[in-house]
Amino acid sequence: MRKLRKCVLSSTPDLWGPGCPKISQFNKGFDFILRETYIQVFDFQSAINDSKIRLCLDCGKCTVVCPVARYDPEFNPRLIVQGVLRQNGSGPTDEKIWSCIGCRMCVERCNYNVKFTEFITFLRYNALAEGAQIEYSHGGAPQAIMHILSHRDIRQNRLCWLPDDIEIAKHCDTAFFVGCAPYFDVLFSDLGVKTVEGSKGALKLLNRAQLPFTLLPNERCCGRDLLLVGDVEGFLALARANMHELSRRGIKNIITNCPECYYTLKVDYPKFLENWDINVMHITELLAPLIKSGQLALGRLERKVSYHDPCTLGRYSRIFDQPRCILALMEGLEVVEMADNREKALCCGASPWAHCGAVNMQIQKERLAQAGATGADILVTGCPKCLIHLKCAQKNVENNDVCQIEVQDLFHLAAQSLLPQELSYC
Ligand code: SF4
Ligand code: SF4
Ligand code: SF4
Repeated sequence: MRKLRKCVLSSTPDLWGPGCPKISQFNKGFDFILRETYIQVFDFQSAINDSKIRLCLDCGKCTVVCPVARYDPEFNPRLIVQGVLRQNGSGPTDEKIWSCIGCRMCVERCNYNVKFTEFITFLRYNALAEGAQIEYSHGGAPQAIMHILSHRDIRQNRLCWLPDDIEIAKHCDTAFFVGCAPYFDVLFSDLGVKTVEGSKGALKLLNRAQLPFTLLPNERCCGRDLLLVGDVEGFLALARANMHELSRRGIKNIITNCPECYYTLKVDYPKFLENWDINVMHITELLAPLIKSGQLALGRLERKVSYHDPCTLGRYSRIFDQPRCILALMEGLEVVEMADNREKALCCGASPWAHCGAVNMQIQKERLAQAGATGADILVTGCPKCLIHLKCAQKNVENNDVCQIEVQDLFHLAAQSLLPQELSYC
């Protein structure tokens, strides 16, 4: 906790002590208009209509491909959907609704495009409203940080990791959205994760590509993990705080390397914030064409790697080719695919820092085994959270049979290949 205090400095007397303000005190004064429809997004009939669960034909294909159902026979997305339809307008609040890891395999497989992932978020929101308790992992520390970050007057020291040789544009309407990597590395220091190396790598690549950007010293968490557990109030508080910060600085474009921030800012924010008008790009969408055309040259790395598609970048955002393009154009790098890849890639066993247990660990072990079976020396992922969850499985003392393949961030790896060069961007 002492280390976290270094990252989060607040104008409030002591955010961790007895005077800690309640969440309801946070976020007062952000005057951005929430879409009038956001309340309806979380109304039962709208949730049923929007997620198209009435189209469900009870075929069970979702359950067949669901990795959670594979390890927990009690979990069954088909039965959850059918149960809601039979009850006609009320939803389950039992613990099974927390087991879904949001991997979207079911949506990918469903011939009728039933959006189970959106619907489960609604069921969780509904369950919380009915008094359900979330079983937080890590003592609720990630959620505590997210709620603290939604405070309007928070002051952060969130760029202390920034290397001196990174060029930041002074006047620029494009911001690089870092996400929570600086906080993750403190929270999960026992796992030895350095997710911020991925952020540094991304910034080095942008510098080398001469793509200017600025950084936001008071950026907040995008709020995705709160939204996923149904804490819509907490999510909206962060969304509005980010909107305030971005508007204040005249930001028109966002680049990010984090798949979760990308999807949340690009898809979820416009659903909730009436005046959200910011162009959001994933860094691979910018870099891949430049590397392909020879405008950005990567160097040489003699390694054998396998790429893990983060669910939020792959199935959610349909970005499958660009990360592979970056790897394919690094000289000396041999890229091999795992048995399950692209649309069928197995999830890292993620959870939104809640209800994580033995099933998540089984999925992580399966994914790591798939990586090991390729003969690769490195499992490369483009998501800081995949890195954390997979490392967690490797560090778990009970997992003595887990594959200990090196897990590395895509941008960290690509930046390592860059040859030293005088930075020409100014
Ligand atoms: S795959 Fe689609 S149609 Fe089939 S049971 Fe699942 S949600 Fe229903
Ligand atoms: S999102 Fe993934 S874990 Fe959740 S029901 Fe669908 S396939 Fe299963
Ligand atoms: S797998 Fe992820 S959520 Fe679960 S305990 Fe490990 S780090 Fe936490």
